[in-house]
Amino acid sequence: MDKLPLDLPNFEPGWVWLVGGGPGDAGLLTLYGLHALRSADVLVYDALVGEDILKMAREGCVLEYAGKRGGKPSSKQADISQRLIQLAKDGKRVLRLKGGDPFVFGRGGEEALALVEANVPFRVVPGISSGIGGLAYAGIPVTHRDCNSAVTFLTGHNASGIVPDNINWEGLAQGSPVIVIYMAIKHLGDIAQKLMAHGRSADEPVGIVSRASTPSQEVLETSLGSCVEDVAKSGIEPPALVVIGEVVRLRSGLDWMGAMNGRVLTSDPLNLSANVDKVANA
Ligand code: SAH
Repeated sequence: MDKLPLDLPNFEPGWVWLVGGGPGDAGLLTLYGLHALRSADVLVYDALVGEDILKMAREGCVLEYAGKRGGKPSSKQADISQRLIQLAKDGKRVLRLKGGDPFVFGRGGEEALALVEANVPFRVVPGISSGIGGLAYAGIPVTHRDCNSAVTFLTGHNASGIVPDNINWEGLAQGSPVIVIYMAIKHLGDIAQKLMAHGRSADEPVGIVSRASTPSQEVLETSLGSCVEDVAKSGIEPPALVVIGEVVRLRSGLDWMGAMNGRVLTSDPLNLSANVDKVANA
């Protein structure tokens, strides 16, 4: 890669770099990620890595698809790990590129442990996880001082494709004001029911962000009680994130992408000034 005024480590042959590509928008790639793309011999990538990012690979870099998507034919995890090991042992600079962050519901840890077992040296390059950066593209911050001081990241299904059963739903419903769910669409009804059964209100705001940070991004604002019906009606599709909590209301003030298309933003999306008036008049 052209020399940057920054001392980035050499991508040595025989190494695997496990890199997060961010939620989609190629501009969200890190400098390490770009450096790896411009140096790699082989790029092994997932379904959620965007075309624009792949286009930045060095000329001559071999692209190998290892996508895994629910319901579609997928490479087995063990096969992917074995492939990475084999390529590294052949002396290639192997770039393993994943959507978002490799260590957030990305099986990055599993692949890295397989490399450890095979004595293959590796580096981890974090990426912007869709559950943070993707929501920011919808104008939804995962924390906001007036709403929450904790957030939980949850997967909508486990390795067997069902809602994880090792979750303390009562603890989650009562202890986490904001819940960001990856891979949630399929089991949204079940999850919403469990949260409401443990005390969350049917009126609680829910945001659904599909293909965040890509040109086909779609956002649906709904509530815990009506989200399943609204998702079905809207036809919004995976990959999508679901965010449950008061922070969703901030979107009417922070939808900066909408503002670029003429949306008028409010500076008081939580209607705090009304509460101040109430206190003043009490
Ligand atoms: N490692 C990734 C997550 C992989 S799990 C990360 O850190 O973002 C795959 C899930 O991530 C999808 O089912 C979806 O819930 C979410 N996801 C990833 N990219 C997304 C995007 N651009 N828009 C919406 N959801 C996305």
